Amino acid sequence: MADSSRAGRCDCGATPGPLGECADYYHAILAEEQADPEMVRWHTVVVCAYLLQHPARGHEKHLDGQFRLLQFYLDKGLDALLRAAAHQVARNRRGSRSGYDMAPLEAYTPLPQSVSPGPFRAGFCGLPFRDGSLVADGYPAYGSRIESIAAATVESWRTLTG
Ligand SMILES: [Zn+2]
Repeated sequence: MADSSRAGRCDCGATPGPLGECADYYHAILAEEQADPEMVRWHTVVVCAYLLQHPARGHEKHLDGQFRLLQFYLDKGLDALLRAAAHQVARNRRGSRSGYDMAPLEAYTPLPQSVSPGPFRAGFCGLPFRDGSLVADGYPAYGSRIESIAAATVESWRTLTG
């Protein structure tokens, strides 16, 4: 068992896993993704969920858009998110500097003005790391774990909206 003393908690409230805090898992994902075009499909979900579970590490002006993107993903699925992200990249290439295109996201719940509602039901330091990999048991299993983290993130933030 990993050290589960209260002093060793991540700032989201989770108990660190064998790799360390969520930040250690996050950086392991980003490193593994770079060589894995299948795993990188979940990149936007990973980034949004990580920052919303650790909002002090994000940019305040982007967190609302990231919260809505997670809701969009849970509502419409990964393929729809990837199409929206591709559109976003093309838009930014044309010189728009306003951050996320909010038009498809307007229907979703805005981020409550609050400190983090963690600990979350599912988080990054709960991910299994085997044989030096976060996708040792395949992409569908990885994808469903990332979806659980995204759902837990949205669920906890939504409890603050009343
Ligand atoms: Zn954490």
